[in-house]
Amino acid sequence: MRDRIRTADSEEEDAMDVHLYSSNDEPKMKRDFDKKVFVNRSLTLESIKCYGFDMDYTLAMYKSPDYESTGFELLRDRMVSVGYPHELLRYTYDPSFPTRGVVVDTSYGNLLKVDSNGNILVCCHGFHFLREGDVHFYYPNKFIQRDDTERFYILNTLFNLSETYLYACLVDFFTRCTRYANLEKGFQHGDLFMSYRSMFQDVRKAMDFIHDTGVLKEQTIKNLEKYVVKDPNIPVLLTRIKEVAKVFLATNSDYNYTEVIMKYLLEGNSKPGGPKKPWRSYFDLVVVDTRKPLFFADGTVLRQVDTNTGKLRIGTYTGDLQHGTVYSGGSSDIVSELLDVKGKDILYVGDHIFGDILKSKKRQGWKTFLVVPELTKELQVWEEKKSHFEELKRLDVFLAELYKHLDSGSKECPDISAIKTRMNVLAYRMDISYGQMGSLLRSGSTQTLFASQLIRYADLYSSTCINLLHYPFNYLFMAPPVLMPHEVASQISAEVSSSDQSNRTLTSNKN
Ligand code: IMP
Ligand code: MG
Repeated sequence: MRDRIRTADSEEEDAMDVHLYSSNDEPKMKRDFDKKVFVNRSLTLESIKCYGFDMDYTLAMYKSPDYESTGFELLRDRMVSVGYPHELLRYTYDPSFPTRGVVVDTSYGNLLKVDSNGNILVCCHGFHFLREGDVHFYYPNKFIQRDDTERFYILNTLFNLSETYLYACLVDFFTRCTRYANLEKGFQHGDLFMSYRSMFQDVRKAMDFIHDTGVLKEQTIKNLEKYVVKDPNIPVLLTRIKEVAKVFLATNSDYNYTEVIMKYLLEGNSKPGGPKKPWRSYFDLVVVDTRKPLFFADGTVLRQVDTNTGKLRIGTYTGDLQHGTVYSGGSSDIVSELLDVKGKDILYVGDHIFGDILKSKKRQGWKTFLVVPELTKELQVWEEKKSHFEELKRLDVFLAELYKHLDSGSKECPDISAIKTRMNVLAYRMDISYGQMGSLLRSGSTQTLFASQLIRYADLYSSTCINLLHYPFNYLFMAPPVLMPHEVASQISAEVSSSDQSNRTLTSNKN
């Protein structure tokens, strides 16, 4: 029973972890941070009756940076084949540049890191990072209206990393190429004007091309070992889950690709001499071509897949769930119906903050688990650079102290320029430890848009879904208590007055 109760990510948890014992009284090892599942909202696994998995970048983890690098090359070559200059072929993928979750401003060709309100944290033009004064030139308010989806596009997925880098290459190339004149909203060459917006549209089209025509998938299938992590724990996890709950796969990939990838992950992994289980038997339901996020709303027609030919059977499927059958399309409502589970009893595990997590939570009330592969690096840098963050916090407190005794009648104005400079230096040092565009989750002490969405929509998150293996299926994931500022203030003042009280008692005792 003790094993079920824990306050994740808190000091108490760490203290408790070392005392946990399994049923055979073997002392349990404290979980490495890398093996932990982190909790935004408390959730007991005991109430989960059904686990759903996304495939790409969730069960099928692609090897970084080889996979993104190949994606970039296919994208770059496609741009050249539709008429972009051959000089672009000189660019090669640099994994240290892009961070996921950046926003493209298609008007000015900038890549922006923003917070949840659209305040700009980092601004980059090509590979040039803009100083504060230059950011004001483009954005006088240092703010963007994110809702303007015609202008701003969020590069949310791990697939988007190669696209982010390619767009920076294009802006870099045209800015430096003397054949082109730099204008406010694009480049001029003779009587040809190329806007930042049209360039981004071309990149998007090229991206759809390499996915929809299957060229990226073809490359992946040709060299699975190079591109896909074959973790023997995947069949172990799915087998254990299937013993206690229903399991389904819901992927945007097509059947033929899903078949190759899942066979590689699940059938090639069984122990020598052991029984060879067909990959589909790990699931109660397999749905391909799901078209998430549409899947979590109206969805599309549900059809059966002929697993011999990979072709779709004509007509809409209206029957009961048939084991071993693969379906195409459909919707989250149909999944609930076929598996006879309510939304709140489903835990869906995916890597796409919008298509997998935000939509399943907002539209269907599913429980959500976000896979964030970057978390391994984020945790490592956090450990190494924690002292910078501590200093930032101390400087914050110091600033507050400077103003503490002032009121609306005060005329003096404390000089905080040196503190501000030091804070900027610390924030910059922290940022570059993650990569050129900084952390996925923060810039200095400010959280990014991605971080705020993760907190809001993902009940649980971890660097990989395999980390579920480290928790029993009756586990209570406890979210750390989050106090609002007025509650913190009143708690501090209560603590101060109780310590004043005890000091007074001590003093009077001495007297
Ligand atoms: P899932 O993550 O398993 O749902 O599958 C993601 C699918 O979306 C894969 O088949 C990708 O090839 C495809 N995909 C990812 N990004 C894009 C894109 O920008 N355009 C078209 N297809 C994409
Ligand atoms: Mg995915």
